Amino acid sequence: MSKHKPTAHYEGKGEFFDTHAHLYDRRYAEDGRSPEDILLAAKAAGVSKILVPADSVVTSRAAAGFSDSFDGKFGVDVYYSVGVHPHEAKDYDSEAEEYLKDLLGSSRPSRLRAIGEIGLDYYYDFSPRDCQREVFARQLDIAYEADIPLILHERDAAQDTLDILKAQYKKGALRNNPGVCHCCGMSVEVASELIKMGFYIGFDGPLTFKNNVKGVKLAQSVPLDRIVIETDSPYLTPEPNRGRRNEPEFVPYVALRLAEILEMSIEEVAKITFDNGIRLYEL
Ligand SMILES: [Zn+2]
Repeated sequence: MSKHKPTAHYEGKGEFFDTHAHLYDRRYAEDGRSPEDILLAAKAAGVSKILVPADSVVTSRAAAGFSDSFDGKFGVDVYYSVGVHPHEAKDYDSEAEEYLKDLLGSSRPSRLRAIGEIGLDYYYDFSPRDCQREVFARQLDIAYEADIPLILHERDAAQDTLDILKAQYKKGALRNNPGVCHCCGMSVEVASELIKMGFYIGFDGPLTFKNNVKGVKLAQSVPLDRIVIETDSPYLTPEPNRGRRNEPEFVPYVALRLAEILEMSIEEVAKITFDNGIRLYEL
């Protein structure tokens, strides 16, 4: 991974909300990038809000710790989520469930804004599929009981994801604002079913990659009031910075690509996606 270089700045283009960035990732420390470096660079690029998502009990604690330590400190509001990713579903036990229920209970910290990442991943299959489905369903119930939106991770499992969400919807256990399909790789057809249930659709670096026809089609199909932008840092660095470690300061590149696709200005995309992020996480 090449050394970090400052990026083109989008200061003055508006305020950006990176709705998904794993800022506790140890790769940053290995690169010599401190939270201060990352947040100041984000701020300079116009990013004023970031949500730090978790994928296990360990990273739930890390996300909470990051938010506790750095929220507001460098001019960026830092929110977080807790939850168990499908990769880690095999390690989901009663202790993990109690931990989540406890945190999301009546004394929930104010910066804890979602449960996630939760969902299904049949691409890597790091946990058995039946186990993934069960852990996903259990956390959907927790989200509903706790009255909090969810961050959905889905890869190569669109039909099962849709079936489980529809069952949840039918039994009346999905909120009006159910959450976001993060880094959404779904077809227009499946995504539209999620949008009908109230979901937001998250776009990331891959939208900036050449030949991402599927992503472009999806972006064109999503109602403007349902689009959010994210980096998924430290992964999925957008063009023109591919090959570098991803950081929230690069989220304007996702907005820029959306602006091209939707034939709007980056200022308009910044404003729309910022407001959507506020509604998604109910800030
Ligand atoms: Zn993620």
